[in-house]
Amino acid sequence: MYRTAAIFRRELRLTDNPLLEGVEAGEFVPVFFLDDYNQQEHGDSLRALFFHALRQLAEGIERLGGRLYVVPPSEQERFWDAVRPDEVRFCEDVEPYSRQRDEQLIPHLQARGIRYRILRDSLLCPVPNTTYPSFTQFYKRHFLPNVTLGTPVPIPQRLYTPEVDVPVVAIPQVDAEPACPWYATEEQVQKRWQDFVEHGLAHYSERRNLPSVPGVSRMSPYIRCGMISLRQMLRDAWGVREQFVKELAWRDFYSHLLVHHPETVNMELRPEWRGFPWRHDEEHFERWAQGRTGIPLVDAGMRQLLQEGWMHNRVRMVVASYLTKHLLIDWRWGERWFYLHLVDADLAQNVGNWQWAAGCGADAQPYYRIFNPVLQAQKFDPQAEYIRQYVPELREATSEQLADLENLHRLVPEYPEPLVMPDEGRRRFLQTAQQFFGG
Ligand SMILES: Cc1cc2nc3c(=O)[nH]c(=O)nc-3n(C[C@H](O)[C@H](O)[C@H](O)COP(=O)(O)OP(=O)(O)OC[C@H]3O[C@@H](n4cnc5c(N)ncnc54)[C@H](O)[C@@H]3O)c2cc1C
Repeated sequence: MYRTAAIFRRELRLTDNPLLEGVEAGEFVPVFFLDDYNQQEHGDSLRALFFHALRQLAEGIERLGGRLYVVPPSEQERFWDAVRPDEVRFCEDVEPYSRQRDEQLIPHLQARGIRYRILRDSLLCPVPNTTYPSFTQFYKRHFLPNVTLGTPVPIPQRLYTPEVDVPVVAIPQVDAEPACPWYATEEQVQKRWQDFVEHGLAHYSERRNLPSVPGVSRMSPYIRCGMISLRQMLRDAWGVREQFVKELAWRDFYSHLLVHHPETVNMELRPEWRGFPWRHDEEHFERWAQGRTGIPLVDAGMRQLLQEGWMHNRVRMVVASYLTKHLLIDWRWGERWFYLHLVDADLAQNVGNWQWAAGCGADAQPYYRIFNPVLQAQKFDPQAEYIRQYVPELREATSEQLADLENLHRLVPEYPEPLVMPDEGRRRFLQTAQQFFGG
């Protein structure tokens, strides 16, 4: 009987999963290699949700009659020798570590004469041969011509997994409070997505920038763990809301960028930014990280991150801009903090967006365009509902009082004075940038 092995990595679901295509016809050996990298590099919130998803996948596979093997990577060779599949399949990944891991895996398979197939799941379209200078060019010239809607892969009716003699390990149990509200079964994720399709998608363009209303899908943690199919999301949004399709395309844009520029994990994409005199002020950084900057919208965002492991995109842009521009602190510090605390932490998305916000990345704003966090709050949180939700000491303050940063601390003594006033921070950044770029 034909034996297929599938390496699960971040495609932790049964619905529309290319790893499961046609596997019910033969023997199927699903495996997850529990490697140390995932344990050490990722924050607790992501690890908690990820292992929760992995457990659910294992249970789902069991319900269909199969078994997911969770194997330490040190036992890989023994695993292949024991399983001897006709075919191995796994999905392409864009992170430098994963690409290196795949390069090491392939010779092991070839040496055993095992066929392998590399599938695509966490990307919507193939990685182009080159990078595009702007998102718009990427979208028009590469994304739209190459993206395919496809048809959903059906969930197998049954699975048959043979017994193989390999050491297995238990799925780790990670406790992280911010991850708890995100725990969901695959069916619940589907339900949340369907609710958004029915009630949110049509209003997405108008509501997506308002952090106090449920205007966005909140699917990013489930995308990160592969609990929902990106193709399914694309199919549902296609022809309904192009703005939403574009957001999914941004995801591909940053993922592709990481393939071509793995150095951007630590280094600015734009060479002219390398060596920029970022400040490494630990005290200011800590105040930012804990939501104690004295700038209400920034603090609300940073506290949302600590509480929920997630932050609204508009606010992510504002807090990243405040850190890198007003506080002049190295974007790498912010990127790391986000990475360790986000339940949707994704290397390509996080690095790409941080560099965009700092001005040194792809399609980034020119350095002299700096968000004013007070004006951003007035525009996108005009009734200050979001701020009041996450900064309880400001609950009684009116929107006018929140905008009056000079006097806010006097009015609410337990709320800190601004670390840097927006105008002052802006001036300092522009001066530093002009000196550095010689402008
Ligand atoms: C500084 C900064 C750091 C970020 N770090 C991450 C990260 O680690 N992981 C992550 O998934 N996203 C990251 N983002 C992108 C974005 O904020 C989130 O994807 C989005 O807020 C998720 O919420 P949602 O699912 O409700 O999005 P929706 O508005 O419902 O959008 C649907 C999907 O489109 C994609 N998308 C939307 N906006 C972006 C964007 N700006 N860049 C790339 N893809 C996007 C996401 O996959 C998202 O789930 C970051 C943004 C900024 C500004």
